[in-house]
Amino acid sequence: MVQNDPEDFIDISVPLESGMLSWPGDPPVTITRMRDQNAGDEANVSRLDMGAHTGTHMDAPVHFISGAPGMDTMPITAGIGPCRVIELADEQSISRASLEKHEPVAGERLLLKTRNSTQRWWEHPFDEHFVYISAAAARYLAAQRVMTVGVDYLSVGGFHHDGVATHQALLKEHIWVIEGLDLTRVPAGRYMLHCLPLKIRHGDGAPARAVLAPYRSAE
Ligand SMILES: [Zn+2]
Repeated sequence: MVQNDPEDFIDISVPLESGMLSWPGDPPVTITRMRDQNAGDEANVSRLDMGAHTGTHMDAPVHFISGAPGMDTMPITAGIGPCRVIELADEQSISRASLEKHEPVAGERLLLKTRNSTQRWWEHPFDEHFVYISAAAARYLAAQRVMTVGVDYLSVGGFHHDGVATHQALLKEHIWVIEGLDLTRVPAGRYMLHCLPLKIRHGDGAPARAVLAPYRSAE
């Protein structure tokens, strides 16, 4: 039985809170105490009001392709297993050439660390110029048949370019997408990924808790 020391884990999810950064046009995040012990209620119970693509979250194929699988169909292995964090120097968008150097392979879980991770991006106003995956690079990842792709901002596609094309290239091949990761403290390398989104029936997306543990090769 493999045991991990709590110190070994790196939490790569961002905290959910009222008023936090969200994608322009998506519902804002409001967490409201609906029952409150301070007001004489028996328990404290909050209401969550937010879009499904808030903070650290996953995208299901149905996000950009009507009728495609939803969040509840995600194979657990898409979120749990060995992964590789690769660091990319692209300033605007991740190119196919940058990814090729890292030789992604079929079935791989890949987390892409970019200059987005030079600051705690979720504590800053929305940045239209975040680094995203170019549509050509997304098509390349799809052709390599990776299983899961994670990024360190709110979207795999750009705000001004490739928002739709990048999502479609990945989602139509049923590649599972993790967005909104906090990779600020994560050096490139191999890890064990544990990322489980909420099981929302037919969900186009779902908030997720994601953590990294030290890599262990299959014995
Ligand atoms: Zn997305």
